[in-house]
Amino acid sequence: MNERITHYRNGKIFTAAEDGWAESIVVEDQQLRFVGETVFAEILAPDAVVVDLHGAVVLPGFVDAHTHLVMMGFALQKLDLLDATDLADIQSSIQRFAESNPDSPRLLGRSWLFSALNGQHPTREMIDAVVPDRPVYLDANDVHSVWVNTAALRELGIDADTPDPIGGRIGRDPETGEATGMLYETAVMLYVWPKLAELATDQDRDTALALAFRRYLEDGVTGAVDMALGPDELHSLERALEAGKGTLPLRVAAHWLMTREDNEADNVRQVHDAIELHKRIQGPWLRIAGIKIIVDGVIDSCTAAMKEPYSDGTNAEPIWDVESLIPVVTAADAAGLQIAMHAIGDEASEIGLTALEYAIATNGDIPRRHRMEHLESITKDNVNRLARLGIVASMQPVHADPAIQENWRAMLGDYRVNRAYPWPEFTEAGAVLALGSDAPTAPHPPLPNMFVATTRRSAIDPSLAPNLPQYALPLADALAHATRDAAYSCRWENLTGQLVRGKAADFVVLKQDPFTEGADSLLTTEIAMTVVAGSVRYLDTAQNQQ
Ligand SMILES: [Zn+2]
Repeated sequence: MNERITHYRNGKIFTAAEDGWAESIVVEDQQLRFVGETVFAEILAPDAVVVDLHGAVVLPGFVDAHTHLVMMGFALQKLDLLDATDLADIQSSIQRFAESNPDSPRLLGRSWLFSALNGQHPTREMIDAVVPDRPVYLDANDVHSVWVNTAALRELGIDADTPDPIGGRIGRDPETGEATGMLYETAVMLYVWPKLAELATDQDRDTALALAFRRYLEDGVTGAVDMALGPDELHSLERALEAGKGTLPLRVAAHWLMTREDNEADNVRQVHDAIELHKRIQGPWLRIAGIKIIVDGVIDSCTAAMKEPYSDGTNAEPIWDVESLIPVVTAADAAGLQIAMHAIGDEASEIGLTALEYAIATNGDIPRRHRMEHLESITKDNVNRLARLGIVASMQPVHADPAIQENWRAMLGDYRVNRAYPWPEFTEAGAVLALGSDAPTAPHPPLPNMFVATTRRSAIDPSLAPNLPQYALPLADALAHATRDAAYSCRWENLTGQLVRGKAADFVVLKQDPFTEGADSLLTTEIAMTVVAGSVRYLDTAQNQQ
């Protein structure tokens, strides 16, 4: 028996390649040596270690085309309050969480619903009643506001004299001006997030990263594109790489996050930082792909830049305009960096495409792989322009979940809601569509994401009506967009994303068969095994593996 060679036989293997399906995979070290019929696999590798798949479905390992690894790891450690039905329920959950984490200097929770408070306003006293001594921060389910206790306000340095930031608000007592415990929009981004980031230690970030890796492997993900890398996250990834002696639990490509400065030199300087990182970090386990530019905000809080105003008559200025983008984008393109642009509103994608088109015309015919993120509301003309320019559309089915559409639709309020998240328009126009989750803004597991992709129904509440079902994707197409095309989005097309000879042995074995059991089974299908670079990185212990 040759221990370096493993023959996985008797499977229903979806290759995400032209030939479609196979029965056997032969893995030699880290690579796929053969994918095809069992009779040939036996001839090719008679002395291989044999694993019988008993007819199980095998997919290429999922690549999450858009995620935030460290943030996801932090979010996974927060107390989940989504199921809390009233104030007493929320309070008792916080109390139990406090008791089971006696040494945590502060307590973090998430996903509580305003509707659970039955019309009452959330106040700091409600949390003080159960945790008076330690800071408590509870993210609302919409991630646009945070409910805190008195100790947290003290830690943040917020009192009656703290001004409301532009675009945000501190909840206050109308008579005294005293902060009441709610922080909205930019008050969260400017006060809470930097404070929590400053308080987090390298050890905290390493723990969060390790947890994100573990959960991704348990859920069948073998590669991830981190979309907002800063120095802290990069150092954490590099420590993980060192601890793994040059490997990570799964493959990571990352985009260096640009911050918008008010002068061109400071903006272009950040591109040069990214170019240095791109040259230095270019391995099969970790590569710095390029830069991330956040062109606008989100529709839910009316901060996405739209061509026409929101239903309340307001509109948002983009964070970057064409003039400020052009020098950055042209320099990044010329250096071979991948440019990823967050562009949710139809004006933001127009601005981004104009800047990219300029850079492409200026720099001429050189290899490039640019991408736009989210594209929730985009004009038909710009779908065609994006395809013509060869830009990858990076989209997140979980953001179209009907359970979170009510506010989104109300903010636009007109004909635009009928062309929301139009995934198939991109492929029909000839663009590559890469699917991801944007965790932790949405849940990271790929199979429920595939449920939303193939049904436009809600993975949170499947009884809800579908959201524009004409945009649903066939299962095989959705899976290919989440594997082959997600790999293409970060230039891994020669490395992973398809089960074909010569690529890495990155694959996942399912316990159910969504192809025969139907789309609903995607909500309950479990992962039997996740293999990365030929090694089994996750194995369900209840699995009868022979
Ligand atoms: Zn994101």
